[in-house]
Amino acid sequence: MTALHDLSVAALAAELRAKRVSAVETAQHFLARAAHHTALLGAPAEGASNGAFVALNEEATLAQARAADARLAAGTAGRLEGVPIAHKDIFVTRDFPTTAGSKMLRNYRSPFDATVVARLASEGMVTLGKLNCDEFAMGSGNENSAWSAVRNPWDASRIPGGSSGGSAAAVAARLTPAATGTDTGGSIRQPASFCGITGIKPTYGRASRYGMIAYASSLDQAGPMARSAEDCALLLSALCGPDPDRDSTSLDVPAEDFSRDLQRPIQGLRIGIPAEFFGEGLAADVRGPIEAALQALVDQGAVRVPLHLPRTELAIPVYYILAPAEASSNLSRFDGVKFGHRTPNPADLIDMYKKTRAEGFGDEVKRRIMIGTYVLSHGYYDAYYLQAQKIRRMIASDFQQAFTQCDVIAGPVTPTVAWKIGEKSDDPVANYLADIFTLPASLAGLPGLSLPCGLGAGGMPVGLQLIGNYLNEARLLNVAHQYQTATDWHTRQPGATA
Ligand code: GLN
Repeated sequence: MTALHDLSVAALAAELRAKRVSAVETAQHFLARAAHHTALLGAPAEGASNGAFVALNEEATLAQARAADARLAAGTAGRLEGVPIAHKDIFVTRDFPTTAGSKMLRNYRSPFDATVVARLASEGMVTLGKLNCDEFAMGSGNENSAWSAVRNPWDASRIPGGSSGGSAAAVAARLTPAATGTDTGGSIRQPASFCGITGIKPTYGRASRYGMIAYASSLDQAGPMARSAEDCALLLSALCGPDPDRDSTSLDVPAEDFSRDLQRPIQGLRIGIPAEFFGEGLAADVRGPIEAALQALVDQGAVRVPLHLPRTELAIPVYYILAPAEASSNLSRFDGVKFGHRTPNPADLIDMYKKTRAEGFGDEVKRRIMIGTYVLSHGYYDAYYLQAQKIRRMIASDFQQAFTQCDVIAGPVTPTVAWKIGEKSDDPVANYLADIFTLPASLAGLPGLSLPCGLGAGGMPVGLQLIGNYLNEARLLNVAHQYQTATDWHTRQPGATA
């Protein structure tokens, strides 16, 4: 029989339903694998560990698995009953600590589960643990985690991407069949691309942000990361849906079955190819697999439609004004009073604020709080924040113009494959520039998907990005699934690159 960790979410759900394996056996199998890949809080990941997990709670996981087995026996099972999942450590969880990769929340335990976590649990999914990420989801390589870097399973000397780096590494290394991630400017798509897995960021507002520790609220979205589009469709169907009492930006559209169009042929599909995504900055070893993937879609009957997204480059300054602005406001809640770290023996209240925040936040978070405070301050607001908001609107209109000519937009997720750990860690701007292809869809609030489509330099995975119009997730998953039906890149495993 295929090893449990080699089964897809869909296949594992079927095995569990047929009672060929129990939820407890499944949980034990994955817990044993995950135990080798923890970044113990405060200690760097060492040796063979990839540092993907930051918290496990075997007792809680097994209790959830026993409850799943009871529902399977009683015939009251959910659609994903007994299938394990691990959550990015930015979603609050009752049974596990939640740190957001920050010393600020070192010992924090939430009294409730994030809506996304609760929704997946209500479909029967069993939580394996929490996954490493950049501090407060700020980063592109997982190097900003206060706990440890995460190693890319394809090459341990490289980053897994970020900020959902633990999620991508855990799925790629088959430590979990599925993980949650969040994407503010690319944090699902980019690590999925760097680790050779599939991930989708839905339309802004599809998934509830309740219990997702806020970075930039007008951009933050949750989404699934798994090995195939088919699995992502199952997970997305479970985690989306309105949450009117708890997230006022959650869209008032009913939950959908995102698997419904998977089998639809893509004959006649118009694929928009933005020239700006194929400029000089795109590395040749990424361009090759992307071109080949586009050709594979054409071979299946799709049509290429050349077009322009003229403000693509502006997405970088716009995002790196707006996201820090929102972050500076969101992170003001970490003041040592209500929860999280508090400095011992402060001289007075102001001293307490200062020392608490100086001790609790890492460098990148401080940098963004300062930038954000600056661009919102009197005299600079009009020049920076307001101007960025205007260009954000234009970027969204450019996409609407593009979608009059095509059904989906395709291009690379990132300009290069995953870089080496340490290579860009002292250069924040180099990290920011690498986000160029994921930021536009984020600013526009559009759904975006990343799927593996080849290997570039060093045998590292390359991801194809598909961007859809608002609420067109089912279409993106359809195109991705059709591609994955005709090709086998999504089945490639780290270490088996030949
Ligand atoms: N790399 C981007 C940043 O550092 C995106 C992060 C994210 O999507 N959470 O902000």
